[in-house]
Amino acid sequence: MNPDSIVSDFDAELSPTERELLARACEFSRRTVAPAARQWDRQRCHPTEILRAACESGLAGIELAPEFGGWGLRFSAKLRIVEEMAKDDFGFAFSLVNHHNALLRVSQGNPALAARLVPRMLRGELIGCAAYTEPAHGSDLGHLATRATRADGGWTLAGAKAWITNAAVAGVVIALAQTDPQAGSRGIATFVVEADRPGFVRQEAYELSGAHAIGAGGFTLQDYFAPDEALLDHPGQAFRNSLRGINGARCYVAAMCAGMLESAIDAALRYTTARKAFGQPIIEFQGLRWSLVDASTDLAALRLLAYRAARQIDAGADAEEAAAAAKKFAGDKTLAHLAACVQSLGANGLRSDVPLMRHLVACKTACFTDGTTQIMNERLGKLLLRRQETTSPDAGE
Ligand SMILES: Cc1cc2nc3c(=O)[nH]c(=O)nc-3n(C[C@H](O)[C@H](O)[C@H](O)COP(=O)(O)OP(=O)(O)OC[C@H]3O[C@@H](n4cnc5c(N)ncnc54)[C@H](O)[C@@H]3O)c2cc1C
Repeated sequence: MNPDSIVSDFDAELSPTERELLARACEFSRRTVAPAARQWDRQRCHPTEILRAACESGLAGIELAPEFGGWGLRFSAKLRIVEEMAKDDFGFAFSLVNHHNALLRVSQGNPALAARLVPRMLRGELIGCAAYTEPAHGSDLGHLATRATRADGGWTLAGAKAWITNAAVAGVVIALAQTDPQAGSRGIATFVVEADRPGFVRQEAYELSGAHAIGAGGFTLQDYFAPDEALLDHPGQAFRNSLRGINGARCYVAAMCAGMLESAIDAALRYTTARKAFGQPIIEFQGLRWSLVDASTDLAALRLLAYRAARQIDAGADAEEAAAAAKKFAGDKTLAHLAACVQSLGANGLRSDVPLMRHLVACKTACFTDGTTQIMNERLGKLLLRRQETTSPDAGE
C-alpha cells in the first residue's frame, strides 16, 4: 500500500478549514521550526518565542470553541498538524500540543477563570501544561502523592510533579491531586494551578540527550491555595477524564512517530540513491533496500492504526484499544526503523545537519510520554482478557 495515499485519503476527509489550517501549520513548521530545531538541542533551551509565534498563527486553538477565539476543529485536524510538525521537530510539536490541550481544558472549566486565562493562553502569553507524573509515580497514575485538602473557599495543594512537558516555562498547569487517599483513583481531582501564585516553586528544566523543545521539568506545590473556581474536574470525574485525554495523546504521539519515520525514510532515500559504493548506488544493494522497504511498510501500518484511532475519537469514542495499539506499534517499530535509516547514511547519519539522530532520541522519548510501551501492553492485555470473558460460551452463566 502506498503510504502517501493513506495520508491523502485521510486528508480528503478533513473539512476545507481543517485543510487550510494544516497547510498553514506545515508552512510555519518548514519556515520557522525546521531551520532552528538543531539550535534548541545544542543550546538546551525551550523555544518559547517560537511557540508564541505558533500561537499567533492560530495553532493553539485548533479544537478550541469559536466563542473563545478558536477554530472548533476535530481531533483529526490536530493529529495531522502535529504529525506534520514532528517531521521538523517532535519536541516543538509536543510542546505546542500540550499547550493547546491545557488551553482547551481551561476553556471547559469555571467561566470566570476561562475568561481571564484563555485569551492570554491563546496568544501564547501564558503557556500551559498538564501535570500527572510525580517523582515517585509515573505509570501508576492512580496512586498520586500530591494532596488536595479542603480549605476556606478552596483547596490547599501540596506535593511535587516531575517530567512535565513545558514545566520550564508554563504559567498555567492542569494538575491532578488526591483529595481522599482512601478513595483511590475516585478521590483524584483536577485543578488549574497558576504559576505566579504563592506556593508554586518551579525547578530547573532537565538536561536531556535531546528533545529540549519539550521543556520537561518539575515543580513543587508548597501549601498552594487553589480557589474553588480552580477545580476543573471533581473527584470521581478527574481520573476518567484524564484517561480520555491520554488516549487522545497516545493516538497523536503515534502519528508524530509516523511523521518522524517518513522524514527519516525520505532522507535515507535521498542519500542512498546518490551515494555509490562498489560501483553502484548503495540503494541497489538488496540488504539495504529491504531495510527501507520494511520501514516504509510499517509506516503505512502505523498510519492506518493512528488514523483508525483518530476517526474513533472524532466519532466521540474514547478509542482506548485503538490508541494503545497505535502507540505500542509506534514504540516497537519506529525506533528500530529510525536506527536503520541512520545506518543507511553511514557515518553521515550521525551528523546534526540531518535530523535522524534527533528523531531517534525523540522517538525514545515518545516511548515514555502518555504511557510506556509496557503500559500499552498491560492495557491491551486487559482488554484482550475482557473480550475473552464476554465472548466465551460460559460468559453470563
Ligand atoms: C520528555 C517527557 C515528557 C513528559 N511529559 C509529561 C507531561 O507533560 N505530563 C505528565 O504528567 N507526565 C509527562 N511525562 C511522564 C511520562 O508520562 C512518564 O515518564 C511515564 O508515564 C512513565 O513513568 P515513569 O517514567 O515514572 O516510569 P515508571 O512508571 O517508574 O516505570 C519504569 C519502568 O517500569 C515499567 N513498568 C511500570 N509499570 C509496569 C507494569 N505494570 N508492567 C510492566 N512494566 C512496567 C515502565 O514501562 C518503565 O519501563 C513525560 C515524560 C517524558 C520523558
